[in-house]
Amino acid sequence: MSERIVVAGAGLAGSLMAVLLARRGYDVQVYERRGDMRREPVGRGRSINLALSTRGLHALGVAGLREQVLASGIPMHGRMIHSLDGGTELQRYSTDPGEHLNSVSRHDLNVLLLNEAEKAGVRIHFHEKCLGVEPGRLEVLNEETRAVRSVDAPRILGADGAYSAVRAWMQRRDRFDYHQNYLDWGYKELHIPPRGNGRHRIFTNALHIWPRHDFMLIALPNLDGSFTCTLFLPFEGPQSFAALKTDDDVLRFFTRQFPDAVAHMPTLVEDYRHNPVSSLVYIRCAPWHVEDRVALLGDACHAVVPFYGQGMNAAFEDCAALDECIDALAPDWQKVFETYAGMRKPNTDALADLSLRNFVEMRGRVVSPLYLAKKKADDVLHRLFPDHWSSLYTMVTFRRIPYAEAVERARRQDLALGLAAGAGGLLLAGLALRFTSRFR
Ligand SMILES: Cc1cc2nc3c(=O)[nH]c(=O)nc-3n(C[C@H](O)[C@H](O)[C@H](O)COP(=O)(O)OP(=O)(O)OC[C@H]3O[C@@H](n4cnc5c(N)ncnc54)[C@H](O)[C@@H]3O)c2cc1C
Repeated sequence: MSERIVVAGAGLAGSLMAVLLARRGYDVQVYERRGDMRREPVGRGRSINLALSTRGLHALGVAGLREQVLASGIPMHGRMIHSLDGGTELQRYSTDPGEHLNSVSRHDLNVLLLNEAEKAGVRIHFHEKCLGVEPGRLEVLNEETRAVRSVDAPRILGADGAYSAVRAWMQRRDRFDYHQNYLDWGYKELHIPPRGNGRHRIFTNALHIWPRHDFMLIALPNLDGSFTCTLFLPFEGPQSFAALKTDDDVLRFFTRQFPDAVAHMPTLVEDYRHNPVSSLVYIRCAPWHVEDRVALLGDACHAVVPFYGQGMNAAFEDCAALDECIDALAPDWQKVFETYAGMRKPNTDALADLSLRNFVEMRGRVVSPLYLAKKKADDVLHRLFPDHWSSLYTMVTFRRIPYAEAVERARRQDLALGLAAGAGGLLLAGLALRFTSRFR
């Protein structure tokens, strides 16, 4: 009989991990709190669409699913910056047209992974909420019958998201570190419908941003010709969710701040009234595993704020890393989990910092002359030294260099650029001195 592995959560990471494990011949049982999204409407969770890039694509490739997922992705070649006067400017992500983000539907991607998991022999138990862990067993509550039972679970993978029950059980153990932070900003999803002919109303192949320093609106394209917009705004303050009390407040705010978007949002007021404001949390914890019995992956151990578009990509990268460790080290599960956590934890810590920093960049710095000059310098240097110079964004988004290493390489590049600029400045000063001394 094959060895059993129990996965908590059939979200993005849980279902991809289940596919990889089943393909290795394990008996994989998945317990998912929600109903089956292929058959019944379920709460749609977070964002409707997501930016998928190199790291996520690599992990999907390990499961043989890369091309299938890409077939329903929309390439986004750059950021389309919308200024207050309605002007737009496309900032390309890369000088290589092959390097772009892909806008994918969270629902369709999750459905594809559930189908593939079942095809590979995974058994998925829906409406089964994990409550906690006992030695060799997982306690689950059936949300329909309210019956609680304990299932045989010699090895458990907690992929049950930012509010993980498996992690909550680990938190009660000695020397478990846990940090949870909320931003003062929340987000609300809004909608730009397709044109009458089914085409997009604004440029299709870009991630649109309306940066307004303390807040911003972004929009990602969907296959049906619509865009999903997300408004990131402080909870409190003069320009905040709290300040937008009436329909008139909402219309006035949007017309003043995002005039060219409002023109394409006929249901703005209804959508604003109807859609919830969600919070933004980031989580760090350690250790990621308990002996050879339980390990965490995805948001359960490293939820990040969404501003680098890397949460899912990193969760998928966890799956590929764990799969690699299983390949090399199973059945020594203690070693498998230790090696996996050692590979991933410093890097997802680096990603958490990067994601916070990118919020400042997205909502304001993208229009600053200094940022644009640095981007230009990075592009030129990358063209001159393609094997040695890449911008931090390129390393994070279009390479698989570990996140912490990408940060370190970018720091060294910035130092070199600073020194070169300083040397250039000295050279100019020297020339100026020679020139002016002639006229003494
Ligand atoms: C607004 C927003 C935009 C984002 N955009 C991007 C983006 O563009 N690109 C990107 O890479 N990432 C993005 N992310 C991050 C991405 O959504 C997450 O990193 C990703 O969903 C993590 O996958 P996961 O499987 O770990 O968790 P989840 O997708 O949250 O899945 C967890 C699963 O566990 C289930 N579950 C929860 N509790 C239990 C329980 N007790 N028992 C059983 N099952 C349970 C849930 O129902 C769910 O199915 C964004 C996030 C937000 C909030």
